[in-house]
Amino acid sequence: MLYPSEGAPMIRCTSLKNVEFHAGPVYSVARNISGFKSLSFFQPSAADLHNLAYGVYTPERFVELCAIHIRQNTAAREWVFGLTDKTVTLVCVCPLERRRHGQCHLTAVADFIREWRPDLLVVLDSDPVQKEPQDAWWTEY
Ligand SMILES: [Zn+2]
Repeated sequence: MLYPSEGAPMIRCTSLKNVEFHAGPVYSVARNISGFKSLSFFQPSAADLHNLAYGVYTPERFVELCAIHIRQNTAAREWVFGLTDKTVTLVCVCPLERRRHGQCHLTAVADFIREWRPDLLVVLDSDPVQKEPQDAWWTEY
């Protein structure tokens, strides 16, 4: 079973469908998710998605390219620098399993935020289990 931890401020990166684990404002990093504000500068480009869909890119290569595009995006950096909420949830349509295999670009988004905002705790649901119980937002018991 999964239990979310209460309280601890963190940037949570998880699946759209895991609504019970969302906290704070929820932002989508995927295209075409309705019901949440989407951060277009974190979304994959249509061209990259096309190439992924047609097998031109492996999922791993696709994630690498997303990371490159995010790093080149001034708006992405500005958003991260301006982030004052310490509890935010970023969601993608991909299931957890994809992130565990490095096949979801949300991992690239998390790396980017960790790089520029070391003061924020950024936690992916695919991270290995954290050491401290209070940090174990996504621990399987
Ligand atoms: Zn994804």
